[in-house]
Amino acid sequence: MLDDYLIADEPYYRPLGNEIALFEAAYAHRLPVMLKGPTGCGKTRFVEHMAWRLKRPIVTVSCHEDMTASDLVGRFLLDANGTLWHDGPLTLAVRHGAICYLDEIVEARQDTTVIIHSLTDDRRILPLEKKNELVRAHADFQLVISYNPGYQSVLKDLKESTKQRFVALDFDYPAAELEAKIVMHEASLPPAPAKLLVTVAAKSRNLKGHGLEEGASTRMLINAGLLMSKGVSFAEACQVAIVIPLTDDADLRDALRSAVAACQ
Ligand code: ADP
Repeated sequence: MLDDYLIADEPYYRPLGNEIALFEAAYAHRLPVMLKGPTGCGKTRFVEHMAWRLKRPIVTVSCHEDMTASDLVGRFLLDANGTLWHDGPLTLAVRHGAICYLDEIVEARQDTTVIIHSLTDDRRILPLEKKNELVRAHADFQLVISYNPGYQSVLKDLKESTKQRFVALDFDYPAAELEAKIVMHEASLPPAPAKLLVTVAAKSRNLKGHGLEEGASTRMLINAGLLMSKGVSFAEACQVAIVIPLTDDADLRDALRSAVAACQ
């Protein structure tokens, strides 16, 4: 069961600190883990790497504001023989002992988030109210959530009672040298252009709070690098993979473009 969710090949991951050991210690006690950090800084890659290391299947759900509890736990569906229950992704992970990764959990409505409460304390149970069933979590089940502290408003924050169930690991963009190595690996780039991209990222991150909501993520640098590996020039790759996606504001685009030009 859930063999499709096992990761066969090692996902490339360069540690930023001792997060691998910390996650392993948390998993040993099946403690729920929260990964905090800006978008595109390696949280998903890390949890995939850990699932591979721990040889556990991983079920990932990207949370969004229209997500209902049924989208997570499951629902009755009609077929030729009547109604049949279909486990949702969370229930699948709970029953069969996977790691369930709820990406961007705060996007989900608070009434959806509370269904994880009984799973994240020593009860480790998931009530399927519509089915009148109480699912006891498989011994190997673990819940992992990601959370981007930058986007939170008071209205869209995790409840205190939810937060306090998790151990949390802080993530951030890797230090320049490490980030260049990651870009080199992921975009098959030589060191010099990878370093240039990292310099552009640093400049864009300085604009955070001065109009930009977020600076360029590692993911954006990799996208730019992938374009460059197909012959696109540095300036144009930065333009389409970093400047245009980041902002629609003409002044900010100009500022970013000058930052790119200054790096060349
Ligand atoms: P997040 O889940 O934080 O939004 P991702 O995990 O999807 O971000 O990271 C975006 C990309 O950046 C990954 O696909 C991977 O290529 C790369 N990446 C970021 N950090 C690392 C790291 N520490 N080691 C290896 N790759 C990384």
